[in-house]
Amino acid sequence: MQKEVDLVIIGGGQSALASGYFLRRTGLDYLILDDKETCGGSWSQTWESLTLFSPSKFSSLPGYMMPDSAGEYPVREEVIAYLCAYEKRYDIPIKRGVRVTQITRENGVFIIQTAGREQIKSKAVISATGTWQNPFIPEVSGRRRFQGLQMHSMEYQNSKAFERKRVLVVGEGNTGAQLLAEVSKVAQTFWATHEQPEYLPDDVDGRVLFDLATAKYEAEKLGKPFDASRYHLGNIVMTPSVKEARDRGVLISKGRISVLEETAVVWENGGRDDIDAILWCTGFGFATDHLSGLVSVDARGRISTENTRCKDIPGLWLVGYGGWTGFASATLIGVGRSARQTVKDIVDYLKDLK
Ligand code: FAD
Repeated sequence: MQKEVDLVIIGGGQSALASGYFLRRTGLDYLILDDKETCGGSWSQTWESLTLFSPSKFSSLPGYMMPDSAGEYPVREEVIAYLCAYEKRYDIPIKRGVRVTQITRENGVFIIQTAGREQIKSKAVISATGTWQNPFIPEVSGRRRFQGLQMHSMEYQNSKAFERKRVLVVGEGNTGAQLLAEVSKVAQTFWATHEQPEYLPDDVDGRVLFDLATAKYEAEKLGKPFDASRYHLGNIVMTPSVKEARDRGVLISKGRISVLEETAVVWENGGRDDIDAILWCTGFGFATDHLSGLVSVDARGRISTENTRCKDIPGLWLVGYGGWTGFASATLIGVGRSARQTVKDIVDYLKDLK
């Protein structure tokens, strides 16, 4: 068993880096455990052609701006390079290749168990494990009977596996639209969506979504009404590839799935199409399995929090994840605010322990 530290952060992605930035001058003895062998958090798992919705200066962590991208928006490799440079610049102490399997708490001290059977003791914990390790696929009737290839967007790297196939793409979010655009270049595609997809105007990018979300957040904080009728926050951003797919006439939803058969999809509004493969672009839960022995975790992986502080377990914070752990906390530009407040809370908490 290692010596006891003040703080352990689980996960070494952008949320951990933002927390590390604010921890620099606190004098706390802390370390970060990440199960990946390389820097950049889950961005290395995203598909090869992924491009951000906003320019680099709207996609930066605290302190150090993402350098200008070669194109209008940063691509996956530029995001990874930025996160790796950020980690190096601030000398953030990440121990890699360490998977945390379970956390318990005894006499007010956390005992962190790793897959390598190491145990680390800590006075406080930040969980910053993101969503990518908890892909969500809805229980569509007949899904387990379907005999072809099924892939979640989490595993998708490029369209190779779908070449010349008949592919059902499921999901009306940005991921669904972007992967439909890419796969439809090499395959015959059918698009299943729960609701009819809604698109932002062509000249609007992710900055508007962020500004709108900020305005909504500020209004709610002041108890003022907020009129979001101009744009819905979840709308599809018209990236160049999505625009091109629209021009090719492939951005057409066939609506909801009624049932999947061995080799076909039956539609709720009638009709049936033979398919060879399904690409599920149906989102994620939260990767909080390692906390399930410590605190109540709901079906999506959510834990009861007040901002980032776990309501039920003193000394435990959750950073990143999404709205339930802080406004825009699952974005590069938004996580800094949650991280700063969390570090401040932890410093106060540890002072009170003395
Ligand atoms: P992650 O990046 O997932 O990092 C968590 C780390 O923890 C990973 O390295 C993981 O392997 C590790 N880990 C998990 N469990 C354990 C464990 N038990 N033990 C040890 N390590 C563990 N955000 C933007 O700001 N702009 C965008 O344009 C944007 N586009 C996106 C497009 C798509 C398709 C998706 C899916 C997301 C997008 N995001 C965007 C969101 C962003 O990718 C994620 O929200 C972000 O990666 C979250 O960072 P994180 O540090 O919280 O988690």
